[in-house]
Amino acid sequence: MRKFDALVLGGGAAGLLCAIEAGKRGRRVAVLEHADRVGKKILISGGGRCNFTNICCQPENFISANEHFAKSALARYTPADFIALVERHGIPYHEKTLGQLFCDRSAQDIIDLLESECRAAGVQTFLQSRIREVQRTTEFVVRTESREFRAPVVVVATGGLSIPKMGATPFGYELSRQFGLKIVETKPALVPFVLSGKDRSRYCDLAGVSAEVVAKANHHAFREKLLITHRGLSGPAILQVSSYWEKGQPIQIDLAPDHDIAPAIRAAKVRNSAAAQRAFQGILPKRFAERWLENNLPAAWNNDALAKWEKQVHEWVIKPADTEGYEKAEVTAGGVDTADLSSKTMESLKVKGLFFIGEVVDVTGHLGGFNFQWAWASGAAAGRAL
Ligand SMILES: Cc1cc2nc3c(=O)[nH]c(=O)nc-3n(C[C@H](O)[C@H](O)[C@H](O)COP(=O)(O)OP(=O)(O)OC[C@H]3O[C@@H](n4cnc5c(N)ncnc54)[C@H](O)[C@@H]3O)c2cc1C
Repeated sequence: MRKFDALVLGGGAAGLLCAIEAGKRGRRVAVLEHADRVGKKILISGGGRCNFTNICCQPENFISANEHFAKSALARYTPADFIALVERHGIPYHEKTLGQLFCDRSAQDIIDLLESECRAAGVQTFLQSRIREVQRTTEFVVRTESREFRAPVVVVATGGLSIPKMGATPFGYELSRQFGLKIVETKPALVPFVLSGKDRSRYCDLAGVSAEVVAKANHHAFREKLLITHRGLSGPAILQVSSYWEKGQPIQIDLAPDHDIAPAIRAAKVRNSAAAQRAFQGILPKRFAERWLENNLPAAWNNDALAKWEKQVHEWVIKPADTEGYEKAEVTAGGVDTADLSSKTMESLKVKGLFFIGEVVDVTGHLGGFNFQWAWASGAAAGRAL
């Protein structure tokens, strides 16, 4: 039996940062991780280069049933705090686009940083430690296959359901139910869409074609790239709106943001589909424009019909059949209800000493480094309160 001041369940981004902050304050901290190494998801993040934060981070970049919940933690541990850590470790990085910071070399740099900070803070890590049960007597008792750990504090940092192959489990949600905390229904987010059979046969042989669009779902719009895949739609614009999409709803796509297409057709010598294709030149890839026109020709070539059709170009309505699910989702939306947590410390308001941080909580960031920033910020909020 091993006694600690705090047990952190899950050695991902949030758990490690929390352990570092608590260790630095002199707490004896153990991280229990069921995989054979920590930070596996960090390693595959950002295409292997880890988009570790976003310098334009605002509360508006997060989705939660309580839109105010994340503000306090985000204000107390900012992108500048994490960047300072990255710079202290001499990790080269760059801004890719829209404030997104990536490692120049590899996401392994971020794991090395976290492991080195853990060592300096005296954090003990127990790998291949699958947690069998958590009980609360006068303190918490956590049992794995081979060991028993005790501490007055348990921090749940076991992440969401996305990418089960990487070790994702519903453990955090189960534990929260065990202790009487509510769960906001979970769903895959930042996830590609699958199109219905009809739309798939219309567009999916163009897999690999991409275009800059404005995609909209549930009144939330994102101007970024759309990518056609073998089964549907992906690309940053689509991943972003997927977090707001509800099954059965359509999405709207502006195929020519900031451009009017109809005037070029009206001005053409002959108004026909060739003129329409030319009007898309430089705006949509040729194959995409051709295919889209085959399926969405104006009802007629008079000015009235062209005006209606122009609207359709900017509001192409398409109804995804589904998403690609947790197998391909970057994150899990929903999670432990923030109404049951302190926004300052992430401690349960019902169970003293029980904390929830990172993706398991009902706070989901937009694409672009915001999910790691939430992991760091919520981890720091808890770590400093232990
Ligand atoms: C492919 C991909 C790319 C991504 N790229 C980015 C990016 O570039 N930028 C960004 O901001 N976000 C990115 N994300 C999202 C980001 O990785 C997560 O939001 C973030 O890792 C969440 O941190 P976390 O610590 O809460 O959970 P995780 O990092 O998932 O950590 C949870 C840990 O708990 C462990 N665990 C789970 N169950 C148990 C159990 N029962 N017992 C013991 N241990 C357990 C897991 O093995 C894991 O190590 C990406 C996600 C994916 C899938």
